[in-house]
Amino acid sequence: MTERTTPNQPKEIFGHPQGLFYLFFAELWERFSFYGMRALLTLYMVNVIFEALVERDFATAAVYASYGSLVYASTVIGGKISDQILGMRNSIFLGGILMAIGHFVLAIENNVAFFLALSLIIVGNGFFKPNISTFVGTLYAPGDPKKDSGFTIFYMGINIGGWVAPLLCGWLAYKYGWHYGFGLAGIGMLTGLLFFWSGIRKNVFGDKGLPPNDLVLSKKVMGVKQGLMVPVLAVLSVPIIAYLLSSYKALGAEDTFLGDQNIVNIIFKLIGIAILLYLSYIMYQATLDERKKLFVAVLITFFMTIFWGFHELSGSVITLFAERNVNLTFMSAAQTNSLNSMFIIILAIPISMLWTYLSKNKMNPRTPYKFGFGLVFAGISFYILALSGASADDNGMVPFAYLLLMYFLISVGELFMSPVGLSKITDLSPKRIVAFMMGVWFLSSAFAFQVVGFIGEQLAIESTDKNVGGFDTLTVYTDGFDLIAKYALAAGILVLIAAPFIKKLMGKIH
Ligand code: GLN
Repeated sequence: MTERTTPNQPKEIFGHPQGLFYLFFAELWERFSFYGMRALLTLYMVNVIFEALVERDFATAAVYASYGSLVYASTVIGGKISDQILGMRNSIFLGGILMAIGHFVLAIENNVAFFLALSLIIVGNGFFKPNISTFVGTLYAPGDPKKDSGFTIFYMGINIGGWVAPLLCGWLAYKYGWHYGFGLAGIGMLTGLLFFWSGIRKNVFGDKGLPPNDLVLSKKVMGVKQGLMVPVLAVLSVPIIAYLLSSYKALGAEDTFLGDQNIVNIIFKLIGIAILLYLSYIMYQATLDERKKLFVAVLITFFMTIFWGFHELSGSVITLFAERNVNLTFMSAAQTNSLNSMFIIILAIPISMLWTYLSKNKMNPRTPYKFGFGLVFAGISFYILALSGASADDNGMVPFAYLLLMYFLISVGELFMSPVGLSKITDLSPKRIVAFMMGVWFLSSAFAFQVVGFIGEQLAIESTDKNVGGFDTLTVYTDGFDLIAKYALAAGILVLIAAPFIKKLMGKIH
């Protein structure tokens, strides 16, 4: 361990700013709470909240989609409020406290408490997640080559949390009851905040993450200080969001244009249209070179949305498939949620070494090719699950190896796309809208959950039988996975065919 101090520079550990390690542990524990809870969420809704409904899978898919969409969309607002008023430190505290309360409220067995808890997590995540990620970037000087490896270390923290939490929370929920699992998630969040707080006490962040200026928190709006106004409005938004989440029922009859959609589906369609209109306006004003790059940024965000739309099925349909139709060994269905993060931890360093090795030999594929391959990997992974049906035993249960292989392949796909895309967005967006484009990038996950909801509703099983499963559900899932595989493969192949053209639009950007 090397430790150096220069007059204005914070201390370093392993050549990285000391602050990185406090953010690493804070984010590790925050993701521990997020993914520990996510591993239980679908099973809890199906088995407890919507237990008595024949359409319990449908309701679960709809609420899961609304939750996922809003939990990522709130990051755009949380990022903006942090930039203009709170600063990153205050935002992270506010977000962390709201999330911890949310997890503890989940430990209360009551339907109103359930929706309020999800809503607290949505608002809390909006303040926490974007700001802790941006905070990492501010620890490095612009252009510092160590920044990328700093983010890789941080991504490891995310996935250590995502790996351990489903194992522990899943075990507690299975052995002692749901509420112990949710309670542990809450303790995880508090631990994250403790790490962050100790970093501030030891002054490892220097002058980073403070509000934009000294006056902004005490500036009054309608007679109330902004520093107080933000948390009050955040808390007031909780029941409104809880109401949106609980309006999971379809708005219209089958034969109207509203069909199976609920309020949140409609809201996200409107947001999508507004973003496209705004981007068209920006492109119209931009120079030809900017326009080309912005077009590529929009395209890769769109490809990422398709990928997350399939990937994020892990917490919903794939968890139900694991529960009902997989011969699980060593772990329960909730615990299978840890597999993606486990493979990311194993594969992240070898794959980044592969890019470096290929670069040295001038063979590193350019971004559009990586995206095409990423989608192809997603397609193959679902094809594996579709094939698993042929190896089912007499009870309609398939071998665990198929699920393992599926998670391995989709994690390879994730590493071809997610970290690469994140850095390309910053390169491709004109400086004046780079923050907005980061918001759009996070929104790709929000829109992906609308896809997850749609697929979950198509593959919903109608039954109140706790032990539903066997061949009745197996064919529904494997037919669904087969269709998803075809869409993902078709998307991947189309991207690969278009790659030479997309590559030209990117100019010198790799
Ligand atoms: N697994 C990553 C995280 O939690 C990314 C998830 C996503 O954007 N859908 O940060």
